[in-house]
Amino acid sequence: MSYVDEVIAQVIEKNPSQPEFHQAVKEVLDSLRLVIEQNEDAYRKDALLERLVNPERQLIFRVPWVDDKGQVQVNTGYRVQFNSAIGPYKGGIRLHPSVNLGIIKFLGFEQVFKNSLTGLPIGGGKGGSDFDPKGKSDREVMAFCQSFMTELSKYIGADTDVPAGDIGTGAREIGYMFGQYKRLQNRYEGVLTGKGLSYGGSLARTEATGYGLLYLVEEMMKCHGEEMTGKTVVVSGAGNVAIYAIQKAQQMGAKVVTCSDSTGWIYDPEGIDVDLLKEVKEVKRARLTEYAAARESAVYHEGRGVWAIPCDIALPCATQNELLIDDAKQLVANGCKAVAEGANMPTTLDATAYLQDNGVLFVPGKASNAGGVATSALEMTQNSERLSWSFEEVDSKLQGIMVNIYHNIDNAAKKYGKEGNYVVGANIAGFEKVVSAMNAQGIV
Ligand code: NDP
Repeated sequence: MSYVDEVIAQVIEKNPSQPEFHQAVKEVLDSLRLVIEQNEDAYRKDALLERLVNPERQLIFRVPWVDDKGQVQVNTGYRVQFNSAIGPYKGGIRLHPSVNLGIIKFLGFEQVFKNSLTGLPIGGGKGGSDFDPKGKSDREVMAFCQSFMTELSKYIGADTDVPAGDIGTGAREIGYMFGQYKRLQNRYEGVLTGKGLSYGGSLARTEATGYGLLYLVEEMMKCHGEEMTGKTVVVSGAGNVAIYAIQKAQQMGAKVVTCSDSTGWIYDPEGIDVDLLKEVKEVKRARLTEYAAARESAVYHEGRGVWAIPCDIALPCATQNELLIDDAKQLVANGCKAVAEGANMPTTLDATAYLQDNGVLFVPGKASNAGGVATSALEMTQNSERLSWSFEEVDSKLQGIMVNIYHNIDNAAKKYGKEGNYVVGANIAGFEKVVSAMNAQGIV
């Protein structure tokens, strides 16, 4: 059996009931075959892949808090510190009822390669809890965040591990967590990113993942002789990534005709009204039915369905495994030219293969959504300098980083004879830097 297959089998055996983690490892290791098989004995002797797929540290802890009725609630908290070869662990905190160790491990594993691709000195980690902020009062969210940070604060720090937002963790949650960290540690430091502007946050961090996605897509389209003006785009999600992806796509002259949340989706042939979407989602924290009620051109549908709308470009920006094989077939049949992931692993492995086999340009999230973490790293730099850069300065650095990522993954794919395969390109380009640092640091 090849070394890659041995390690994939071990991961499945040692981590039962973690299908998302298996999926992420399989995707990455499959595309590293080209590199590993050139020097298989050396990699095996160093147990390089075993060290890569086993997190450096995994924390699981109890998070007790009191709800508004005086009832004690208990959630489970996680932080997986996956790999610190190239810098302090860095990755978001997901608050969603679906969170479990396998999901956090898949996200942490992906984060290692994504962070490497940014070219910035950040290692990979991820955290979260099965707590659901939806429907909770501000006081309940604060009680949860303070309890979560009371335990987590023992293991993080500006030079150790710097968490950030993710699904369910926005500016409000980061604020409560930062306040509790500062109180417990008596240190005012950049221990979290995604902070508010009044206490060390970076301009353009809120927009960064969505904007970054579009900067990369624009560069890729340009390199394939296409421009964004006049393109029809379908987007899933209606959260942080989706909203700013829609905004930037429209600024570039494209028309975005869909968005979705966990209960339904909107088709708006006139183009999504971003201000209205922000009002519904960021201010009122309401359902998309309110968007449809306020806009004549919009139609609301229950369930899922955005991928059935004909488009030039599809941007999955909600959650993992939301673009399935039948969706991929529909996109191809409708003439879709490019799919770039705003979310983490939204496309299943078979759907990815189908898109690639049918000539659709496909960019995996670890490259196309890296703008968020890259700007988080810029927030860390500003915190260390005790300075704040202008929106334009951060945004132009973000644009440069995304254009670079595109060319790095494109070149890595070409170098290994897989031109246009950005999954292979992203995994190899991310892997090479991490492995070189791991080798230099010895068996640790
Ligand atoms: P948000 O919580 O702001 O938004 C998530 C959106 O996806 C919401 O519209 C939500 O609907 C929808 N959604 C969540 N879970 C499901 C589900 N199970 N089925 C259908 N829809 C769902 O999160 P973000 O926008 O921050 O994150 C979206 C994705 O992007 C995630 O995969 C995240 O890991 C990834 N990402 C985020 C980055 C960031 O900077 N924020 C950086 C890089 C990646 P509802 O409102 O109904 O819950």
